[in-house]
Amino acid sequence: MANSLILGAGFAGVEAAIYLRKNGHDVTIVSDRDYFYIYPTSIWIPTGKAKREDISIPLGQLALKHGFDFIVDDVVKIDAKEKKVTLKSGEVLDGYDNIIIAMGQGKMKLEGMEHTLSICGKPEEADEIYLRLQELIAKGGGKLAFGFGGNPKDKSAVRGGPAFEVLFNVHNYLKKKGLRDKFELTFFAPMAKPGEKMGEKALVMMDKMLSMMKINKKVGSKIVRFETDGVVFEDETKLSSDLIMFISAGMGHPVLMSSDLPLSEAGYVVTNEFNEVEGMSGIYAIGDSALLLGDNDWKAKQGHVAEVMAKNVAHNITNQNDKKSYIEHLHILCMMDVGNGAAFVYRSNTSDKMIPLPIIGHWMKKGWGWYCKNSKLNNIPRIPGM
Ligand SMILES: Cc1cc2nc3c(=O)[nH]c(=O)nc-3n(C[C@H](O)[C@H](O)[C@H](O)COP(=O)(O)OP(=O)(O)OC[C@H]3O[C@@H](n4cnc5c(N)ncnc54)[C@H](O)[C@@H]3O)c2cc1C
Repeated sequence: MANSLILGAGFAGVEAAIYLRKNGHDVTIVSDRDYFYIYPTSIWIPTGKAKREDISIPLGQLALKHGFDFIVDDVVKIDAKEKKVTLKSGEVLDGYDNIIIAMGQGKMKLEGMEHTLSICGKPEEADEIYLRLQELIAKGGGKLAFGFGGNPKDKSAVRGGPAFEVLFNVHNYLKKKGLRDKFELTFFAPMAKPGEKMGEKALVMMDKMLSMMKINKKVGSKIVRFETDGVVFEDETKLSSDLIMFISAGMGHPVLMSSDLPLSEAGYVVTNEFNEVEGMSGIYAIGDSALLLGDNDWKAKQGHVAEVMAKNVAHNITNQNDKKSYIEHLHILCMMDVGNGAAFVYRSNTSDKMIPLPIIGHWMKKGWGWYCKNSKLNNIPRIPGM
């Protein structure tokens, strides 16, 4: 059986490891963290409803259950043609039949971004949002800004859903504490119709939710820079804020951008529909690291797409004559949580839906988090397609 080196232990890397092991292959994962972080449920960290350990699985536990090896170190260089990977410690990994790139994506840099915190960044940033919110609560109130940016070179690089989730969760959290009137909440984004990827119905509903919750909206003007106390826009206005939660648009991971891999304009690894890097035998890219194929402009980098790509690659490595493509699985699927309910969002070429699910939706998302953890640890069986 072949031996595979997987770079990154997120949704894509862990799923690839699990399925390659099921197919009897030898697997080594390299990750800069010693745990798998379940990003979709990290939206509860800023309000203290979840802690990092609740939404993480130690890689040691996963390795033991599935029988793969792992190295905790940073990948600093990839020489794809030579199939060589250099780690921060200086170790060079080579001699693998397959290298699967699953390192997620990089972030677009804007001036003053050090004054912002992102729910989509390093896990430490989610913890920091919680601490900063607690400080403002202790002070008696403040101004909070929540937003996301876009990448003109790749529309799939925008991640807006979690910004709305954190914003609505914070609103409900403050309301429950009887402190909502002490805080001014503003949603901001440079595009005129933020969230339009989710479909027209979702856009209308988001607008209604913002006004119902008395959340200000500042959209349609480019962000010029962030300052310690606010966001400056191209239309020369400034949004004052004591805490800025900003999800910058994605772009290629910096290590991939300095490699010999073929890249899209935005820096994502170009593969075919089977996630193979053409012209480089045994090199694959999956999850957020890979350029999403397909010509619809609503496609989005999502966890379930990352997992399909991973499963396919494990299958394709084993069955070279019967390869699987991820294209038909490209749709938006998410449970957008608001803290006391959620909305089910679905978008495909033929349909767009946003179904409000008060109370039950929140518990469904919680249930999914539990399922994700326990099914990956083999404590419960996998539900087909999940
Ligand atoms: C807050 C939030 C909410 C989300 N909600 C949803 C949702 O509801 N539904 C949905 O489908 N998707 C959702 N997503 C998107 C989904 O989480 C991503 O698409 C998914 O995480 C992509 O998986 P990945 O493995 O490609 O990348 P990642 O999860 O980013 O994993 C990349 C891995 O590579 C490692 N790594 C990075 N650089 C290096 C390096 N130099 N050396 C070694 N290791 C490295 C990282 O530590 C990490 O383990 C959400 C994302 C966020 C951030």
